Amino acid sequence: NTVRLQAISAVEAHVPPTIGWAGAEAPGEVFGENVFNKAVMQKRLPKSVFKSVMATIERGVALDPLVADAVASAMKDWALEKGATHYAHVFYPLTGLTAEKHDSFLEPVSDGSALAEFAGKTLIQGEPDASSFPSGGLRNTFEARGYTGWDVTSPAYVLENPSGNTLCIPTVFVSMTGEALDHKTPLLRSQQAMGAQAERVLTLFGHTDPGHIVSFCGPEQEYFLVDRHFFLARPDLLNAGRTLFGAKPPKGQEFDDHYFGAIPERVLGFMMDTERELFKLGIPAKTRHNEVAPGQFEIAPMFERANVAADHQQLLMTTLKTIAKKHGMECLFHEKPFEGVNGSGKHVNFSLGNAELGSLLVPGDTPHENAQFLVFCAAVIRAVHRYAGLLRASVASATNDHRLGANEAPPAIISIFLGDQLADVFEQIAKGRATSSKSRGSMVIGVDTLPVLPTDPGDRNRTSPFAFTGNRFEFRAPGSLQTVAVPMVTINTIMAEALDHCATELETAVAAGTDFDTAVQDLLTEIIATHGAVVFNGDGYSDKWQVEAAERGLPNLRTTLDALPELISEPAMELFEKYGVFNHREMHSRYEVGLEQYALTIGVEARLTLELGSTSVLPAAVRHQTEAAVNLGALKSAGIDADAAPLAELTGTVTDLRTALGALRAALTTEPAETALGEAEHARDELLPAMAAVRAAADVLEGVVADDLWPLPTYQEMLFIL
Ligand code: ADP
Ligand code: MG
Repeated sequence: NTVRLQAISAVEAHVPPTIGWAGAEAPGEVFGENVFNKAVMQKRLPKSVFKSVMATIERGVALDPLVADAVASAMKDWALEKGATHYAHVFYPLTGLTAEKHDSFLEPVSDGSALAEFAGKTLIQGEPDASSFPSGGLRNTFEARGYTGWDVTSPAYVLENPSGNTLCIPTVFVSMTGEALDHKTPLLRSQQAMGAQAERVLTLFGHTDPGHIVSFCGPEQEYFLVDRHFFLARPDLLNAGRTLFGAKPPKGQEFDDHYFGAIPERVLGFMMDTERELFKLGIPAKTRHNEVAPGQFEIAPMFERANVAADHQQLLMTTLKTIAKKHGMECLFHEKPFEGVNGSGKHVNFSLGNAELGSLLVPGDTPHENAQFLVFCAAVIRAVHRYAGLLRASVASATNDHRLGANEAPPAIISIFLGDQLADVFEQIAKGRATSSKSRGSMVIGVDTLPVLPTDPGDRNRTSPFAFTGNRFEFRAPGSLQTVAVPMVTINTIMAEALDHCATELETAVAAGTDFDTAVQDLLTEIIATHGAVVFNGDGYSDKWQVEAAERGLPNLRTTLDALPELISEPAMELFEKYGVFNHREMHSRYEVGLEQYALTIGVEARLTLELGSTSVLPAAVRHQTEAAVNLGALKSAGIDADAAPLAELTGTVTDLRTALGALRAALTTEPAETALGEAEHARDELLPAMAAVRAAADVLEGVVADDLWPLPTYQEMLFIL
């Protein structure tokens, strides 16, 4: 009996675990229970310390190091009461994963016993050995030290584990020279840059004290669930996160019967359990539903400040994985775990603003507010048009390459969808001035001839990579496995540049005596005339768009290796340097790490394909072939005129598989290239095609080999048995 058939019986025997909600507990009761949040700090910190910390969190005032001891001591007491034995600086290295180094609170004292200690300096700074994290040349192994530094703006929390709890402190991770080795550092830098420019624009619009402007991010996470028995019987899923073999099942997603359908009971139990854990950590899980493919689901928390949203997103992924295991399932975040089936993305919803002003991407009630809204929208148009390549690079990975450009995810061409109405307003602006608003018959002409805009944009376009959705833009190209920090750093920085441009133009015009409303009109006209080519309201999946986009001069960077060089282009390096987000060395380091990760990912897949092909698929096929040959011989000797063609055909495919495996082995044993780029190109040009050839033969065999001999759980089983 194959592992595969045993797995099927095991799924039947699954008994769901009981979950916390089962009692009379109200969801609100646990929310933020494990977070060192504002309420906890207010209660436990001396008043002056609390005020100082809040000034840093809410207004971006530099942290006063003198408060650290008081905060550390309160944090320690709180964490010990929550059963924590250790504390950990949590950071976000360039692997895209979360890293943590745990230390015990206990420190020995002279009488031989130990006391729980946690000093301010330990809270503020840590020194993990950085040598095994990718740095893209920023750090040599002889200076292996990396420094973690407390990020006051992202709350500390206690992470529960059956064997002991840990106080987790979100931190930045930098080299000895202060260069970023992580994703949080640039995110914080870019928020600051964007905020400063947005505040300039707001001041011009008459806000005397606009307050601290931040960027908000609401990530929608798609994922697959498969029963763990199947998962463990698929070494490719286990090690590469995606299936490297598998014929298309007779039934796929063509019935459209899964999307927004009733959530299966077992999955709902998992979701409830996950949400409870997320609530404890203060993560505002909000929306859950089935996705397009069988076995595919989505969770979307409420949007938060980009920095907190990014940390929460990482924690959300870890939590989903942990709770799925508890429910006998595996949660898959790969962008394309199953070929021919819908892939998974992570839409990044972006806006900017603050508590007082709300989202600056919402049209207001007066023409003046609308003028301000249109300037912020125009800034998005300029940013996306000028730096489309950078946005594409911010979502480039070997795994997301399987999804982008396939007819299910936005194409690799970055364009903006504005919706009919807003697009119409901008068209009128392009012609000189906007005097009417399309779908509403009546309109109010204001001082500056801009119309009153309704707040509901009405229409939706799922094929656009960057879509206006009423109060925010939705960037749909990020992959389900990626951190939202990278696209957010890019969006913040290109917005900083665009808002800087807007503020400077307006200031210059006003200084030259132009009245403000005319200056705004001129600015909008200039932006839409120069950058309007990036606005596209049609079907992004159509072939026609590929042609039209090329005519408009929009880049179409199909694969990771086409996109990554954007990072080290002159305009990109200048941009990031100007706004203090990355220096040139840091940009080069990200480029190098991107290449390395690409080659590593494909290298693992190639070795797995070779191993599984040689030790699972080929033996099954050969056994089947032998049976068929024995059968044919027996028929012949019984004097029956049996048809040898099926055996000949099978033998042909087995030979194809052998040949393809041989070629893959050869591609894997060539001399390593001298540069990261060389390795990445080898992966793309040699390994990927060789893997595809192995898979093609293996998938044919799956349709021919006797079911009881087939070793790997099939698509049918993994996608439909939960
Ligand atoms: P969709 O209909 O696009 O699937 P969802 O409800 O699944 O929408 O997710 C929308 C996401 O957008 C949520 O995370 C939500 O909090 C977020 N969002 C809503 N308003 C804003 C905003 N102003 N800024 C950023 N994100 C927002
Ligand atoms: Mg959604």
